[in-house]
Amino acid sequence: MSTKSLPFNKEKIEEIVKEYPTPFHIYDEKGIRENARKLLKTFSWAPGFTEYFAVKANPNPYILKLFAQEGVGGDCSSYPELELSRRAGITGEKIMFTSNDTPYQEYQAARELDAIINLDDITHISYLEHHAGLPEIVCFRYNPGPLRQGNEIIGNPREAKYGFTRDQLFEGYKILRDKGVKRFGLHAMVASNELNGKYFVETAEMLYELVVEISQQLGIRFEFVNIGGGVGIPYRPEQKPVDLEAVSKGIKEAYERIIVAADLAPLKLYMECGRMMTGPYGFLVSRVLHEKKIYKDYVGLDATMANLMRPGLYGAYHHITVLGKENAPAEHLYDVTGSLCENNDKFAIDRKLPETKPGDLVVIHDTGAHGHAMGFNYNGKLRSAELLLREDGSVKQIRRAETLDDYFATLDFEGLSSF
Ligand SMILES: *Cc1c(COP(=O)(O)O)cnc(C)c1O
Repeated sequence: MSTKSLPFNKEKIEEIVKEYPTPFHIYDEKGIRENARKLLKTFSWAPGFTEYFAVKANPNPYILKLFAQEGVGGDCSSYPELELSRRAGITGEKIMFTSNDTPYQEYQAARELDAIINLDDITHISYLEHHAGLPEIVCFRYNPGPLRQGNEIIGNPREAKYGFTRDQLFEGYKILRDKGVKRFGLHAMVASNELNGKYFVETAEMLYELVVEISQQLGIRFEFVNIGGGVGIPYRPEQKPVDLEAVSKGIKEAYERIIVAADLAPLKLYMECGRMMTGPYGFLVSRVLHEKKIYKDYVGLDATMANLMRPGLYGAYHHITVLGKENAPAEHLYDVTGSLCENNDKFAIDRKLPETKPGDLVVIHDTGAHGHAMGFNYNGKLRSAELLLREDGSVKQIRRAETLDDYFATLDFEGLSSF
């Protein structure tokens, strides 16, 4: 069984909370940079290998800029995400625009940035052409439907709203070819939080085979395949991270066997992971407000599901460390809750922890992706700050906490008196 480590200790957090009150998310810059470098190195054999960070996982401009510095691009699916990327210095073909049910204004914005547009549906070819003009390079998202098994979070591809059917791919690329488009990409994303590396090798294989078939049938030349995101992380201490070395090796073998053999090399390899890029390097720090003993024992935090929705939404496991009690025996059974008037506002149910008291500082692990980003304001809960633990040990606030004025900003109290 592996253990979950922290890039800081209790003393460091006690120093930080003097300036930034709990709750907050804190991200480990060193961890994020080292992981990104390792990923790029692992796939350095692949022509033009690019990781497009899924902006939705952690839409903070400092995180995006840090990635831009490491050579990582941005995978966007909305206008605000495009704008965030632009402001963080990610532009042009370092942006992949993978959206669905897309408003045309967003296609126009993506075109203005010269982003790579990944179409979700065959009807979007004429929609894009009509509203924004066809770009020089176009990618389609493939949904293999019954030809492929999905996994728990993303579901069975046949039930997924995304992408083109197999037949539509052939039809769609033919339309593009006949309209004079010269550069082509093919994308699929059929897994989420998947810890089995074989899955990604199979996705690459599936796309490589399709590239061969479509190229031969239509006489077009593909520039890249994008195997999507969905690489899982070990939320539980007993889980192991995906062996990316093995994934890389498996994909390389498929590339040589399928693409090189069909004389279609070079074909670039793209990926658009969110979770594995920032997830393990983020931590929600919160203080215990209350201890409650009724039919069960509860520990009530000053954070809520509004700061981290995954446990309440999917029953997802997030590891919890009580600072300063790392080595105490975990022999008390608690539900760890927030204060929302919703009984699913629980960070953990029946979790064994050391005896925990009001005032204790608690760290919830692996909140760097789909954590703060999924936050909301229900029950008047204000969104927390985000901090970056720099490589030199200093702390930079990269998003301040919301205030009551932020929460009320869209309301018109002046109008009340004459109402
Ligand atoms: C959510 C999403 C990603 C990132 O998924 P992770 O599980 O965070 O890696 C990538 N691409 C698309 C199209 C997505 O919707």
